[in-house]
Amino acid sequence: MANRAVPREDLTDEENLHHMQIRLHDLEDIVARVEDRAAGSMALAEELARAKAELISQRRRAEDNARKINSILDAVIDGIISVNADGVVESANASAYRMLNSNARKLIGAHLSQFLRGLDNRDCTPCSTTSPGGDMNALVGRRLSCTAKATDGASFPAELVISRTSFSGTDSFTCVMRDVTEQRKAEQEIQKLALYDQLTRLSNRYEFEARLKTAITLADRQDASVALLLLDLDNFKHVNDNYGHPVGDELLQYTAQVLLESVRESDTVARIGGDEFAIILINVEDPLRIRQVAERIVNKLSQPVLLDGSLVHTGTSVGISIYPRDATDSKELVRLGDKALYEAKTQGRGTFQYYDEVMDARARGERILENDLRLAVVREEFEMFFQPQLRSVDGGILGAEALIRWRHPDGELKMPGQFIVHAEKTGIINDIGKYVLLAACREARRWRDTGMAPMPVAVNVSPSQVKDDGFVAAVTDALEEAGIGPEWLEIELTENIALDTGAGVLEKLNQLDRLGVRLAIDDFGTGYASLAYLRKLPVRKLKIDQTLIANMLQPGPDYAITEAIVNLGRSLNFTSIAEGVETTAQADAVRRTLCSGMQGFLFSRPLAADDFRDWLAGQK
Ligand code: C2E
Ligand code: MG
Ligand code: MG
Repeated sequence: MANRAVPREDLTDEENLHHMQIRLHDLEDIVARVEDRAAGSMALAEELARAKAELISQRRRAEDNARKINSILDAVIDGIISVNADGVVESANASAYRMLNSNARKLIGAHLSQFLRGLDNRDCTPCSTTSPGGDMNALVGRRLSCTAKATDGASFPAELVISRTSFSGTDSFTCVMRDVTEQRKAEQEIQKLALYDQLTRLSNRYEFEARLKTAITLADRQDASVALLLLDLDNFKHVNDNYGHPVGDELLQYTAQVLLESVRESDTVARIGGDEFAIILINVEDPLRIRQVAERIVNKLSQPVLLDGSLVHTGTSVGISIYPRDATDSKELVRLGDKALYEAKTQGRGTFQYYDEVMDARARGERILENDLRLAVVREEFEMFFQPQLRSVDGGILGAEALIRWRHPDGELKMPGQFIVHAEKTGIINDIGKYVLLAACREARRWRDTGMAPMPVAVNVSPSQVKDDGFVAAVTDALEEAGIGPEWLEIELTENIALDTGAGVLEKLNQLDRLGVRLAIDDFGTGYASLAYLRKLPVRKLKIDQTLIANMLQPGPDYAITEAIVNLGRSLNFTSIAEGVETTAQADAVRRTLCSGMQGFLFSRPLAADDFRDWLAGQK
């Protein structure tokens, strides 16, 4: 090797030494460089080792994270399925496998539409685009409903929300799938609650109305008829009050059963109110069928039924209207059915009644009466008649009852029986009542002013008048306007109002009593009020009903009842007066009971104000 440090013979020792030194220097240089390079390689190797260790730990961390994310995804109850832009499954979580009864081998690579069936379904509006080749983008961000089909063939309703993520320019779609079976069940239950009566499981009023409309539409199409039967139970309230609500409930269930057994499957039976039921009979080409159904129901429900150990008597009346014979729409059909029912009830219960023109004429008559009554108030067509009340022992005059008459423009003098009920039904009684109070008080004032012995006037008031907020004010206004003291006014109440504790009735009666107005119970002995109960009211006087007086002399208990009322009344501080005394024999019998007063045709019929004043003058 040229570099080998061998002494040359052609050179002096000195020169050789010099060369050797240079060579040595070179070698030292080379050694230093080699050493440097070795050190550099070591550092590089160390660097590489560190980098490798770092990479390994990063990969571990990434794997840990991925595992963590997967276990979180697996813990989610919703199914999570990741698909590519074509709708092909790339991955799924455990819930998705569980819900679809599937596994990665079956699911990955499958298309969404293979297991989400609703997705190609029209009624699942936006979903049709996910059929193979459809655009996933169109579904992003919407809430989709569909039917998921598991691999074992079972299916369940599902809701789907799809979101999009981009990975290095490629779109991936995450579908979150929820099993909504329970939710749908709850929705159906709510729907049922809204449409069906819980107690009887019959359609409720809403469902009934909808079905009636549908029945009418179908009847139009098929040129057929629909019959509507409306009914209610005769003494349901009584059953509830006397046997308790559980028995009342059983009665309703029993009724529902009877009704269902009386109709065809295609007909509708509904409970539309407390004890009100409705039946829709469709395709009633044969009118006999309507009659048979109604008859069967009336007969079956009129038989007593054993409920919870008690023999319960009930009954029903049925009103029938027929489409298109009677009405042009469902509302009208119900209205007329109601009228027919009302008619059936007034004809005596336990019957059925078809709606017909006659009833309509009656309704028209009622409308005319209402109109005329309103006009009568304005035109002041009412007049007060007066009938004296006398002391039993000596025939002295105790006072007079004011009785209304209506001088109708057609010339007839109408009696209260011809219009008071209707005035009560329409609320016109309140205006009439104010007139009566004032007219009666004015007449009492006149008796005093014309030099007759002052005496109280008795005025009849209807329950609805007492319930009216302005009742007490109407009384005090009348007293003030006529200029008489409260002791000259007596108010005749019905037994029913005395039993009514609502609408502040008792408070109003107490107010009148404190004012000094005397209160009497009219027609006592026919209703349900007991004397013990009446004692709690500020009532001072009982007017014994004319039916008791009329029958006093007949065999039977009426004399004894009258006597008992008088005696018990006296011991409770009521004075009594007998109404409807027509014969001297009746008057004698009344006297024997020690009843303190009498009123009736025997002494005088009710007279017009002038005639009554003449009668009074004659009495002197
Ligand atoms: P009420 O208050 O019990 O009046 C007694 C009714 O019996 C009166 O009939 C009277 O004419 C009749 N009457 C009197 N004595 C006899 C008799 O000896 N025999 C028979 N058979 N009847 C007799 P009216 O006037 O037809 O009144 C009927 C009912 O109309 C009254 O019964 C009362 O409840 C009501 N009424 C009368 N006027 C008014 C009024 O101004 N306002 C209100 N809200 N109701 C009134
Ligand atoms: Mg009366
Ligand atoms: Mg009476």
